[in-house]
Amino acid sequence: KKLKKYFDITGGVLGKKLGEVKAVDDVSFSVNEGEILGIVGESGCGKSTTGKALLRLIEPTDGEVFFEEQNIINISDEEMRKLRKDMQIIFQDPYASLNPRHTVEKIISEPLLTHGMKSKEERQERVKELLEDVGLKAYHASRYPHQFSGGQRQRIGIARALANNPKLIVCDEPVSALDVSVQSQILNLMEKLRNKYNLTYLFIAHDLSVVKHISDRVGVMYLGGMVELTTKDQLYEDPKHPYTQALLSAVPITDPDEQQERIILEGDVPSPSNPPSGCPFHTRCPMAMDVCKEIKPEFKEVEDQHFVACHLYE
Ligand code: SF4
Ligand code: MG
Repeated sequence: KKLKKYFDITGGVLGKKLGEVKAVDDVSFSVNEGEILGIVGESGCGKSTTGKALLRLIEPTDGEVFFEEQNIINISDEEMRKLRKDMQIIFQDPYASLNPRHTVEKIISEPLLTHGMKSKEERQERVKELLEDVGLKAYHASRYPHQFSGGQRQRIGIARALANNPKLIVCDEPVSALDVSVQSQILNLMEKLRNKYNLTYLFIAHDLSVVKHISDRVGVMYLGGMVELTTKDQLYEDPKHPYTQALLSAVPITDPDEQQERIILEGDVPSPSNPPSGCPFHTRCPMAMDVCKEIKPEFKEVEDQHFVACHLYE
């Protein structure tokens, strides 16, 4: 609720504060149990920061985060440490997030040990189970990350995230670094695991084609804010925000007759340290009106389950 994360820009010998980057600026949404909520936006829109702030891997500047019924913003480090068992993250670059000097067994058993599985035999057994769950083999346990392909490494990252039977997994562009042919294998695996273990995903991606199959609902972010959020079908059939419409027009579809004309956005994404007045999208919006320069549109429900921040729908 009203999540904000501002980063200070400092400079000079005294490290004086020169300004701030509003990476996430007043974002509110919920993720339902068992659902896959896709979050889409260009780099720098604040989607990763949102994901990390939800898990308190970075501390939000303001706002509240509820996990189940509990507001986790002010709980102690000890309580947070226990909750981490239920809330995991999978990163974009599996290679960077796996210690190259540790065997797969050590990598996957580390979270087990942290959360109290003392017996080595038990951990080995669990690692075997997890490797099987992600489509790897028991003998892979003794190998090192560099001995695997990118897709296999992401499977290891997934196994590690699953180790303690989490409820929520923030998936931060888990397939963006992989070849297209491998992407769909990993997406299928993640969907299978969601169904098997009733997992909930916040699935972050930079384009709409990746989240199209896997998500139940999709949120679109632009310059630190959520501009549209609705069910997948609604979003792809009836996108309302001009930014979503532009993003969707760039997604190739199989039937060329159905392909709509591509909407080319003028200009670059403005700097989040100096965001435009009014609607943050007005500098690039093909539909911009006078009011858009002055007043920031509220993010509100314009149809059942369809949230948009745009003056066109007021
Ligand atoms: Fe475009 Fe105005 Fe809507 Fe912003 S509020 S998306 S500038 S029409
Ligand atoms: Mg990112």
